[in-house]
Amino acid sequence: MAIVQVDIQPPYDITVETELLHSAGAKLRALSKSARVAVVTDSNVASLHLAPLQASLFSAGFDSVIATIPAGEDHKTLQTLEGVYDTILGAKVERTTPVLALGGGVVGDLAGFVAATVLRGVPFVQIPTTLLSMVDASVGGKTGIDHTVGKNLIGAFHQPIAVLIDPTVLRTLPARELRSGLAECIKHEIIRDADGFGSLEENIPRATALDVDYLTDLIAHNVAIKAKVVAADPFEKGERAHLNFGHTFGHAIETVSNYTYAHGECVALGMVAASRMASNLGMLDAKSVDRIVKLIAAAGLPTGGMTLDTKQVFDAMFFDKKVKSGKLRFILPERIGHVVVRDHVPNNLVIDALQSLRAGK
Ligand code: NAD
Repeated sequence: MAIVQVDIQPPYDITVETELLHSAGAKLRALSKSARVAVVTDSNVASLHLAPLQASLFSAGFDSVIATIPAGEDHKTLQTLEGVYDTILGAKVERTTPVLALGGGVVGDLAGFVAATVLRGVPFVQIPTTLLSMVDASVGGKTGIDHTVGKNLIGAFHQPIAVLIDPTVLRTLPARELRSGLAECIKHEIIRDADGFGSLEENIPRATALDVDYLTDLIAHNVAIKAKVVAADPFEKGERAHLNFGHTFGHAIETVSNYTYAHGECVALGMVAASRMASNLGMLDAKSVDRIVKLIAAAGLPTGGMTLDTKQVFDAMFFDKKVKSGKLRFILPERIGHVVVRDHVPNNLVIDALQSLRAGK
């Protein structure tokens, strides 16, 4: 079991503990006097993991209102949001009623936006159930939904009062989703922790084999990295941009592939491209690039074999919502464990890096 405190105002704890779903009600009771809670979950997670949570909420004296949304990114929409508002407001929730997100990043983002907006803001609790949402989406307070113009374009910052992580729920997660989350773990080590990167190199088979003891440590280590970055820059005005390592390339690959690649797979390819580009700029040594590519491959993530049109991906990079005044901005490693922000990278080096993703697999 591990507790990571997020040092923002007001501070909150991220608890990582096996079988935590069974004691979530008692943990929440220590934070809330409310007679009820609203749980937002999705159709997959509801059938797998809602029952123990609901039982523990009931034992702690909470009556729960359940809003189940259809699973998947396609449903992170205004229409789904409206349905959740209908359920929650129809049940006459109050300002003190916590909204709990039980699910992956889609549920977390949407439920967080519900909590930020319903009655002008109610307490929010994240109970993430994918590795990606445990180590990334549930930490940092970004909430929101997609719009037809693009992903995550409507949203708000709304910090949770607690994040409760039960790594045992990962046992039911499809392998591809687990690997997607590992891409974000690899990213965290590259941007902040050379020793952590070495440890992940040694232990990656334990992660892919779903060794829950190891995953508990890995998740706690990763949320600590993300929590520290977020605490230093809660509204994304500075160093929080480091978390976008691999994402400038990755988001464009995701868009052009029409989401046939999973998010983590795009980040994996993006990290490979960014590391090679850093090497071509004389910033990163070849041995480090090699270690990065090998670790990504060992996690079962793609490092090449991209069949998308390079020019199309390059053009798509300019449509990222983080592009400022038409200029591409990259997060590039100078060594494993340390990254810098670089503007003004010559276009030919960006295209070379993308082109390199066509080789291999
Ligand atoms: P997801 O929420 O769509 O979950 C992936 C799939 O796994 C879904 O089908 C879901 O039903 C299923 N699932 C979830 N938990 C399961 C479990 N324990 N067992 C079996 N199946 C399970 O996707 P995701 O990868 O968790 O999250 C992606 C979303 O997160 C995107 O919308 C992205 O924009 C968002 N995100 C947000 C932030 C942030 O800071 N707010 C950061 C990164 C990503």
